[in-house]
Amino acid sequence: MKITDVKTMILQAPLEQELGFSQAYFGTRTSLIVQVSTDEGISGVGESFGAGNVAYANQAIIERVLKPIVVGHDPFAVEVLWHKMYNGIRDHGQKGMPLQSISGVDVALWDIIGKTTGQPLYRLLGGKFREQIVPYAYGMLFRRVPDLEADFAREAEGLVKKGFRALKMKIGMTPADDVRLVKAVREAIGPEVRLMADANHAYTPQVAIPLGRRLEELGLYWFEEPIAPEDYEGYIEVKSALDIPIAGGECEYTRWGFRELISRRCVDIVQAELLGLGGVTEFRKVLALATTWGIPIIPHVWGSSVAVALSLHVVAALPDYPGALIPVQPLLELDTTPNPLREQVAKEPLCVEAQVARQGFVSVPEGPGLGVELDHDTIRRYQVA
Ligand code: CA
Repeated sequence: MKITDVKTMILQAPLEQELGFSQAYFGTRTSLIVQVSTDEGISGVGESFGAGNVAYANQAIIERVLKPIVVGHDPFAVEVLWHKMYNGIRDHGQKGMPLQSISGVDVALWDIIGKTTGQPLYRLLGGKFREQIVPYAYGMLFRRVPDLEADFAREAEGLVKKGFRALKMKIGMTPADDVRLVKAVREAIGPEVRLMADANHAYTPQVAIPLGRRLEELGLYWFEEPIAPEDYEGYIEVKSALDIPIAGGECEYTRWGFRELISRRCVDIVQAELLGLGGVTEFRKVLALATTWGIPIIPHVWGSSVAVALSLHVVAALPDYPGALIPVQPLLELDTTPNPLREQVAKEPLCVEAQVARQGFVSVPEGPGLGVELDHDTIRRYQVA
C-alpha cells in the first residue's frame, strides 16, 4: 500500500456574533482538514490545529513541504513517516505551525490504518479503558455585550440544564473583571458543578498568583494557562504558590517540548493538543512522559467533527491513572459555542450534545479509524481554499 496524494481543505464558517478570549475576538470558525489517499482506494482524514488565517500557512506547509516527503511511502509506517517529516522540517521550526501540519497528516495515516484493518482507532491504541466519556462544556467566551456577567451566568445555567456537570469559562480581562465573572457563574450554577477558568496566558506570575488565590476561594477545579507557555520557570512559581490545580500545554509541541513542561512539573494537568503537538504518533510519547512523571492528561480539543471524534478515541484509551477501584476519569473538552463545523463535517454527526442530554456521557465511535466520513455538502458549503 502506498500514499498517492495529500489534499487539504480550509473550511470557514462565519459567526453571527464575535466571540473572544484574552488574546482576541474572532468572527469566523476555521478548520484545516487533511485527506491522505492511497493506491488501494482507501483514504484517511485528519485535521491540523491552527485558528483563523494560520490555516493558510499550515496548508502551504502540508502541500509544499510534507506531501513530497510522504507520497510513495507505506501509510502504516507512522513512525518512519513522522521522523521523515520532522527531520525534513526541524531546521525551520520545532514548534508551532510545522508541528500542527505534521499532526494533520499523521492523524490521517492512523485513520488509513483503521480503515484498512477495519478497526476503530481506540483499538489500535491498545483498547478502551472506559465506555462512557464524560465531557466538560467549554463555553462562556467573551462577547461584546453590555453585561457580560449576566450573559455568562445565563449561558452557564443553560449548559447545566443541558446535562453538563463540569464547565469551563474564559477569564483574562483584568483580575478584578475575572473575579466578578467567575463569581457570577459560580452563583448561577451552585457549588456542585465543577468549574474551570482559562486565562489563555494573559498574565505574569506576579498577577496570576494573587488571582489564583481568589479563584481557589471560588472553588475552581483548575486554573488554565495562567501565564505564557514558554515561561517554564514562571509555571513552577505559580504552581508552587497555589493549591488550585494548574492546567496547560495546548501551546506545547513534541516530546521535547513536553519534556520541559512535564519533567519540571510545571503543570498539574497536561492539556495535550493532538492536532498540534505532532499527531497520534507523537502523543503516545507525550503520554509515556506524563505517566512517567505522574501527571494526568486531559486533551485540549478545538476543531471540527474530526477533532472531536479523535479525542473520543484518545480519551477512551487513556490509562486509569494512578488506578483505583473508582479511578478518576479523564474529561473530554467539548466546545459548546457556535461552530457548524463541529457537527456538520461528519456525514453522520456525532451528536455529542444530544448524547449528553440523553445519557450524561458520550459514547466512543465504533466505525473504523476515527469513525468519521467527510460530508461533502458541508465541505462545498464552507471551503474557502
Ligand atoms: Ca485553553
